[in-house]
Amino acid sequence: MTTLFISDLHLDEGRPAITQAFYDFLEQRAYNADELYILGDFFEAWIGDDDDASFAAEVKAQLKKLTDNDTQLFIMGGNRDFLLGKDFATQVGGISLEDPTVIDLYGERVLLMHGDSLCTHDLEYMQFRAQARSEPFQAMMLSKSLDERRAIAADLRQKSKSMNSLKAEDIMDVTPEEVIKAMDEAQVHVMVHGHTHRPAHHTLDLPEEERGERIVLGDWGENIWWIEASAETALSLNKAPITD
Ligand code: MN
Repeated sequence: MTTLFISDLHLDEGRPAITQAFYDFLEQRAYNADELYILGDFFEAWIGDDDDASFAAEVKAQLKKLTDNDTQLFIMGGNRDFLLGKDFATQVGGISLEDPTVIDLYGERVLLMHGDSLCTHDLEYMQFRAQARSEPFQAMMLSKSLDERRAIAADLRQKSKSMNSLKAEDIMDVTPEEVIKAMDEAQVHVMVHGHTHRPAHHTLDLPEEERGERIVLGDWGENIWWIEASAETALSLNKAPITD
């Protein structure tokens, strides 16, 4: 009985070694797990669940194979793939998660987030986030043809080269007070998120002299990163090098 968490793979047709590392991860680890949670930025960009490109179809087929084999799959969107939605989850036999979500992990309440909502000091990004996550904006985007959306995605990619907050190396870290606030509101002692590309296992002081844990997933690049938990073992952050 194990549960796995991953995020920030930034899957992209142009990075085949990462895609292969993900398929290997499914084969070597996820097939033996009860549950796999994907906590955002699974894709580098996502133009909508109706994307008919072969790359999208290939990744979906791999996820469907996993869920057909009885691993439960939960998927949350991130800031890069904010249009990843319920249809995608349904197509691959998984369940779409809201950001944030609290789960019961072997008796422990655990708060799951992508993590971008915690980076409140990045005002430029918070503005972008508010727009990207709004229903009218998403509906407007999805009303466009796939070709139009592909053009917009390419354009955004150009623009993000000048918009610092979308560049991995310039993502700001979480605001510590925001972490405490989110954990207090959710009434949890454990939080798991990604986004910041600063993988670490933090312990922290919560109100009323309680101790908390914040475990941050890493982005897939030189290494793959995952968190593993079971009824017998505490949550652990793991990495393995990508070899190609
Ligand atoms: Mn992110």
